[in-house]
This record gives sequence, C-alpha cells and structure tokens, in this order.
Amino acid sequence: MKIRIGIPVAVGVALGLIVSIPDRAEPASGPATLFQVYEGTGWKIATGNGIKYLASSSWTIVFYDTASRTALTDHAKRTAYELKRQTGVNFYVTTNINKGSTTCPTGRVIIMRLTSTAARSSASQCHTTTGAADGSRATFALANWQNAKLSNSNAIYRRKVVSHELGHSVGLSHPSTSTATPSPLMRGEVWGGYKSLTYAAQYTPQDTDGFKNLRANASKLPPPTASLTTTVNGAQIHDPRR
Ligand SMILES: [Zn+2]
Repeated sequence: MKIRIGIPVAVGVALGLIVSIPDRAEPASGPATLFQVYEGTGWKIATGNGIKYLASSSWTIVFYDTASRTALTDHAKRTAYELKRQTGVNFYVTTNINKGSTTCPTGRVIIMRLTSTAARSSASQCHTTTGAADGSRATFALANWQNAKLSNSNAIYRRKVVSHELGHSVGLSHPSTSTATPSPLMRGEVWGGYKSLTYAAQYTPQDTDGFKNLRANASKLPPPTASLTTTVNGAQIHDPRR
C-alpha cells in the first residue's frame, strides 16, 4: 500500500479545525448551525403561533370525554409511537378523561376530542415563554372523520388526520414548500403522507426533517435576526374541510 507523504499533513490540519468547533447536538440532515432553524423544504415550525422547539420531556395524552376515548385511543397509540420515533420524546396515551380548565393546556398535555360541534379538525399550539411546545387541544370533526374519497378508505383518512393534527400539537406548521413522492403529511392544502393503511399514520422524510429541527432547536439560540412577535398562546391551526 502506497502512502503519500502529503496525507498526514492534510489530516492534521483538518483535525485542528474540527476540534476548534464547539460540541453540540446536530440534526441528522442539513448543515449544523449555532442558531435555531424554523423552516426548510417540506417542513415548517409554528413560530407564527410562538413555538420554536420541542423539549425532551415526556408528553401525556388524555381524552375530552369517554366517546372520544373510545374512538381515538387506538389512533392515539399509533401516532404516539410514530412521534416517539421522530423525536425521541415519550408520548404516553392514558385512559384519563380531562376536559381541561383553560383554553391552553400546559405541562405537555394533549386533550384529544372527537366532536360534531367542530366543522374542521384542528389543533391548538400552546407554548412556554421560551417557545417550547407545551400542550394542545386536538379536535377532530365528526363531519370529516370519514373521508374515504380523499384517502381510499375511512381508516386511512383517520390515521392520517390524527398524525397530522398531533404533528401540529407538538409544534409543526404547514410547510410553505415541499416535494412529492411522498409529500409531507404536514401539508396543509392536501395532505401528503403514505397511501396504504400500513403506513398511513407515518410521517414522511420531509416531516422527519421538521421534527429533527424542532428537537435540535431545544439546544440552540434564537437567531439574532429573528423578529418573532409575541403571539396569543393557544392559537389554533384549522385544517380545511375536505
Ligand atoms: Zn394542518
């Protein structure tokens, strides 16, 4: 094996550069940055509603009433598993009935509800003073709980809508741009995601980029150029009725 004399010198220089960079958590994709990143192709963090990051602390899912618990528990468990895969954060699905005493749950609680009183599914995005996602009311409209024409079957649609709304609950918004095959589940105008029942609850690689940045932002500083206005906590994202 030939050894070129120039290689050790080049390696030495490179190592010198590497050790001068502070150690920090980095997202799996994209270049490492010192500052929080809020948007990329196919994903966007809900800074418009005051969310900048997702902390590592676990979340709890409860239900608004027993009918919601009956209808939503299996979906909640499926999506909780996917959110854990995406973020490394634990999401515990309880059997607890809790309507909540304020409009904005705190302490990383999601109150899931299936109701005929809402025309559109939605999720509120509550946050701490530093911009950590902190709680949500995820409401599913009975009127569009069945939408086979969008997703081949009602079962596929329900899995998609639960993962989509809980994606909002932990801090993702609708992306401004995206690419296809598959397009992100967090798309707003027409949901993307996977079209088979097996994968319908899963997030796509572009959603994954969003979740990774959402988590990575927990250990980064807000960018010095950020002019994020203070928003009313608990603002909701309403999804179009389809
Ligand atoms: Zn949405």
